[in-house]
Amino acid sequence: MKLMSDYLHEDSEGIWLTEKERDNLRISYRIKEIVFQHQSPFQHVMILDSFDFGRMLVLDGVVQTTSMDGHIYNEMISHIPLTLHPDPQKVLIIGGGDCGVAREASKYENVNQIDMVEIDETVVKACLEHLPAVSGGLADPRVNFIFGDGVEFARRSHEKYDVIIVDSSDPVGPAKQLFELSFYENLFQALKHGGILVCQSQSPIFHADVMNETYQRMSSLFPHTNLYSAVVPTYPGGMWSFTLGSKAEIDWQRTEMFQKSAVYVNKGILQRCFQLPQFVKDNLKGN
Ligand code: SAM
Repeated sequence: MKLMSDYLHEDSEGIWLTEKERDNLRISYRIKEIVFQHQSPFQHVMILDSFDFGRMLVLDGVVQTTSMDGHIYNEMISHIPLTLHPDPQKVLIIGGGDCGVAREASKYENVNQIDMVEIDETVVKACLEHLPAVSGGLADPRVNFIFGDGVEFARRSHEKYDVIIVDSSDPVGPAKQLFELSFYENLFQALKHGGILVCQSQSPIFHADVMNETYQRMSSLFPHTNLYSAVVPTYPGGMWSFTLGSKAEIDWQRTEMFQKSAVYVNKGILQRCFQLPQFVKDNLKGN
């Protein structure tokens, strides 16, 4: 397939995707096959088959999820709020185009509605067809695909959801507004009494500013805010953070009730992931 993308280059060792992480950091992945690529109205979408990480979703040249480690992130952002909430029935996912989060949420029998608001239908179609290791070919009747801007959708929702998960790309392009205080305020209003909001809050190593800002903004809205972390190999620096806001006191004993089929998450992970390294705790305190 012709190298139509600016993000790929070919040398004597083959085809490479180079992710321009930061001014002085680039990460390259050797690619076996360009499975899909398309310029959507929102971003450049690729599904690549890589030697070391299997198939991967790449948006505007940035690796979003892979068949090798996508389950870590998707399980961590889903099972923690869905286990800590006493009776999650209505779930809202903002973003989540690879369908991995919706796939995990559909493991909960008491969940009767999963609204997934994804701005780019191209991403969903590409992942359902070409990234089954992450999307699972999702076909659950409880999942409502709503193709539109999550910011607009949040403005129109009121006290409707038990759990809201913001599975956004990095705070650039269409996802930039998904990190704004006004967005979190609207999501707070969209939650029912006792509702829980989780959002991915970037790397504690390379994006501590975004992590802190997200934590402070959530803390200004929710009576109970916690940060938890996991290591996701494909994300820069490995360590990743998630910020959880709850309208009600959290019953931590609920972690004992986890029994879903998972590759990464178990009771121990649920109980320990909120234990943070000292530098992260110091960061959050503004030290
Ligand atoms: N789990 C991976 C991660 O955290 O990087 C993948 C996240 S998922 C692919 C991110 C999704 O957010 C993309 O499909 C993107 O199209 C979608 N997105 C970005 N901005 C959005 C917005 N304003 N409203 C709804 N979806 C948006």
